[in-house]
Amino acid sequence: MIDFVGAGPGAPDLITVRGQQKLMQADIVIYAGSLVNPALLEGTKPGCEIYNSALMTLEEVVEVMLRGEREGKRVVRLHTGDPCIYGAIREQMDLLDEQGVSYEVVPGVSSFIGAAAAVKAEYTLPNVSQTVILTRMAGRTPVPDKEDIEKLASHGATMVVFLSASMLDELSKKLVQGGYRPDTPAAIVYKATWPDETIIRTTVEQLAEAANENGIRKTALILVGDFLGDAYERSKLYDPAFTHEFREASK
Ligand code: SAH
Repeated sequence: MIDFVGAGPGAPDLITVRGQQKLMQADIVIYAGSLVNPALLEGTKPGCEIYNSALMTLEEVVEVMLRGEREGKRVVRLHTGDPCIYGAIREQMDLLDEQGVSYEVVPGVSSFIGAAAAVKAEYTLPNVSQTVILTRMAGRTPVPDKEDIEKLASHGATMVVFLSASMLDELSKKLVQGGYRPDTPAAIVYKATWPDETIIRTTVEQLAEAANENGIRKTALILVGDFLGDAYERSKLYDPAFTHEFREASK
């Protein structure tokens, strides 16, 4: 039994009930040590084997999974946030598929969700943006040209930028070149939902300065867009004058 489990953004009680149950029953846990909160491992069974994947290659990770499977053990591969976002989960699943080994995926609360809760914001405000772009700056992992931040910025939509806290000068430039006003509101959310969570409200042009002042270079998300501002329209769904499937408009 192999399960890929989303650990959530940091706070140990933000794993799902299903994920928690899998973790408590596991004989082997391979966790992404760079970002998964080690407090999550505290309730594992006595004798549970624990591996930190930050120190392992893909092949080593899959070897541990396959051995666990051969020995009839329950294996949990614990990924930060949700495994579907920058989780490098596909390559693991493909190697398991090649070996004819089945597995399941338990979703988690991604850090971009944790960050919205931290800043108490709604990404999709009527008349502001109805689209959320999740992206990153190119680093050692390249980003396809068609997805350059500058091109994505041309939509003016809500944007959440992962894995880019050390490149904020360049990010600001690209965002402005793409079409965001330099004074578009932005937020840097460091370690959302962890005890040392830090929220910095700033603007697109001030991103690098704001991060430097606070010594932030990693484990942060950059939120960009007018959803962080004050102007929006009320929703139709809860508008007293609007009739829909479940409610008649009041006269
Ligand atoms: N699968 C994860 C993302 C992994 S990529 C998820 O769903 O959240 C790692 C990047 O995610 C970090 O560089 C950072 O940009 C972001 N990140 C992960 N946890 C975070 C947190 N608690 N607060 C802010 N950013 C976080």
